[in-house]
Amino acid sequence: MKYIHSIIFLLSIVSFLSAQSDFSYFFREDKLRFDYWIGGNRENTKIDSCGLYYDKNWGGSKINAIDTFLYGELLLEVFDSVSNMLIYSRGYSSLFKEWQITNEADSLMRKFKESVVMPFPLNTVRIQVSERSYDMSFRRIFSMFFNPGIYNIEEKVMPADVRVRVVLANGDVCSKVDLAFLSEGYLADDSVKFFRDVQKTIMELFQWDPYYNYETSFNIYAVFIPSASRLISRGSNTLSETALHTHFNTFGSERYLTTEDIWKVRDVVSGIPYDQLCIIVNTDKYGGGGIYNYLTLYTSDNEFSEFLFHHEFGHGFASLADEYYSSLVPYNTNFSLNYEPYQPNITTCIDFQGKWKSMISDTVPIPTPNLKIYAGVVGLFEGARYTDKGVFRPYLDCTMKSKINNAFCPVCKRAIERMIRFYAPE
Ligand SMILES: [Zn+2]
Repeated sequence: MKYIHSIIFLLSIVSFLSAQSDFSYFFREDKLRFDYWIGGNRENTKIDSCGLYYDKNWGGSKINAIDTFLYGELLLEVFDSVSNMLIYSRGYSSLFKEWQITNEADSLMRKFKESVVMPFPLNTVRIQVSERSYDMSFRRIFSMFFNPGIYNIEEKVMPADVRVRVVLANGDVCSKVDLAFLSEGYLADDSVKFFRDVQKTIMELFQWDPYYNYETSFNIYAVFIPSASRLISRGSNTLSETALHTHFNTFGSERYLTTEDIWKVRDVVSGIPYDQLCIIVNTDKYGGGGIYNYLTLYTSDNEFSEFLFHHEFGHGFASLADEYYSSLVPYNTNFSLNYEPYQPNITTCIDFQGKWKSMISDTVPIPTPNLKIYAGVVGLFEGARYTDKGVFRPYLDCTMKSKINNAFCPVCKRAIERMIRFYAPE
């Protein structure tokens, strides 16, 4: 009898622990921030821990603590140390992983600052980071235990010169997409312009399909940090005195706008319950960058700023791939065609069924010729992700392919909607 009681007790614990919804059993509603260096070359990646920090206010989902998309080049996983059960995970990408596919990585070693956040654990956990291999599987590259009871942890607090405005409030941060816009290249006197630029982007966000159906699924913050200069750096070697150290010309691509100082970016948003970070760069130059579950950057005053935001946020929020294939990019584009890419809007047809095959009507030829008569229909068009052979996209033209406004293809729209619902279930 005692034996049966024990079994029933154990079964009840297992069913209790295995539900996605047991967030409060494992975590408090604050963040654990993990800063690290990641370095290597084309073949090798190494992570060195640099610091763990307490950061108030968790904004991520409590229902969907486990990532069901598994997009991105890296995967953060948190395991309960007693049961070894996975209790939190997030796929993401990073600047280092992009550098790793540039030609420079064949002959050089480099290292980059990186940072991830996770909900703050109540008990000892094992934190694990894995990288995606050429065959699309994940391989562990880092693991450490963290015991919140004995770790003497520093709290990260927002710098004194940061000003935050809640510009859209729709309620519980754990069941909404929480978006934080940060200023870059705005002087202390430019705050009015920054808040106006945020409002302009929000208006443009909710004018686009599919976002216009989901305004109540978002909370939005405008986070103003003054820069000592309006001059945005032209490259990473000569950084000017802007707050977040962004620069153009990343990996030799003039329009590619990034920052290598993610630690500073995270400092600025300390205490804010965010899911996604967007940096508005105060210039009329054309440029942007979007890295999945990491950062979105775009310039404020270019004639294509609206397109830049949407295109880059497509990368940053929904892991959409570039659908273009003829522009010059800094990457070695020799990807294997023997594996299915993880991004939802491209395919090598290794697993086309798992992508958008069901959205193609019977009258559309597969593959679909790149001809204007097939504009406006979902098909299988050859040419995407920087190559004109072997990688296919779903539409003749889409915002992930070229500078057109209000025109995500149906497959990209579906991917964006799925991601919104992941954070903000209906
Ligand atoms: Zn698309």
